Amino acid sequence: MSTILAVAQRGESILTLKAAEVARTELNSPWLKELAAAMYATMLERNGVGIAAPQVYVSKRVIIVASRPNLRYPDAPEMDALVMVNPEILEKSELTILGEEGCLSVPNERGQVARAETIKLRYFTLDGVGVEMTLSGFPARIVQHEVDHLDGVLFIDRT
Ligand code: ZN
Repeated sequence: MSTILAVAQRGESILTLKAAEVARTELNSPWLKELAAAMYATMLERNGVGIAAPQVYVSKRVIIVASRPNLRYPDAPEMDALVMVNPEILEKSELTILGEEGCLSVPNERGQVARAETIKLRYFTLDGVGVEMTLSGFPARIVQHEVDHLDGVLFIDRT
């Protein structure tokens, strides 16, 4: 039922823009839920563990984080996919860890990127509920990678 969307590729200007905040009036709206469902389907189809709205040509601050073990990340912890609207990283640990990253928008390239081991973040659910959480390790890496997309930054800019 969910649409598979085209994924923007490195070099396209949508990937370099700072995405706009989702307005309060857009929370809990059908279009936001449809966007998230289509992002989720697209992420799964590409065997990704995360996706950001600008990657599907929507310059809005929406990401999905879906850590799970897969071919590329056999050691990833399994967690339910989280849709995060207007995610904000509030704190980053001083400790950083180098880890391999790839990106649906940067095919056939991997790179070692230093990311904070632990982050505290705040976001809204699709329904507009505010959530604060602390994440460590691979899920924290995914959030940092996806929030970078909202600010027009690709992992290759950090290697
Ligand atoms: Zn990416």
